[in-house]
Amino acid sequence: MSDSSTTVVFALSAEDQELVNAARSARVRAYAPYSKFNAGAAVRCENGQVVTGVLVENISLGLSMCAERVALFAAVDAASRPTTLVLAAPQTADGLTEPCGACLQVALELGGPSLRVIAVGVDETTRLSTVGELLGRGPHSGLKGFRT
Ligand code: ZN
Repeated sequence: MSDSSTTVVFALSAEDQELVNAARSARVRAYAPYSKFNAGAAVRCENGQVVTGVLVENISLGLSMCAERVALFAAVDAASRPTTLVLAAPQTADGLTEPCGACLQVALELGGPSLRVIAVGVDETTRLSTVGELLGRGPHSGLKGFRT
């Protein structure tokens, strides 16, 4: 998504930089033999734990899983609630890669609309949004996140 009206360009805090570094490190572990679109994600949990995820593709494309959902599921396994999600992925012609709708829906369910989303490219470009901003208005707008 490249709508600058819903995003904030910002300087990373030390805590956010740690999360960005974790997502970037995860990228190298992605299993993306078909797309070569190595993506890594990191989630900071409410309990302070950092968990990561990577894109895992399959020759049966429907079985593939985005890095963000892998990381969000790991937050559930950590018995905590995600508060910040970082996606580190190659940039496309539209700019930074944001989480897909399916990942945003999972993020909304687990962290609520205020869950922070940081998109980072392969360079130092970053963009901060929230799940609520990226999803916009919809039937989910009253959902606060089941763990909130
Ligand atoms: Zn996704």
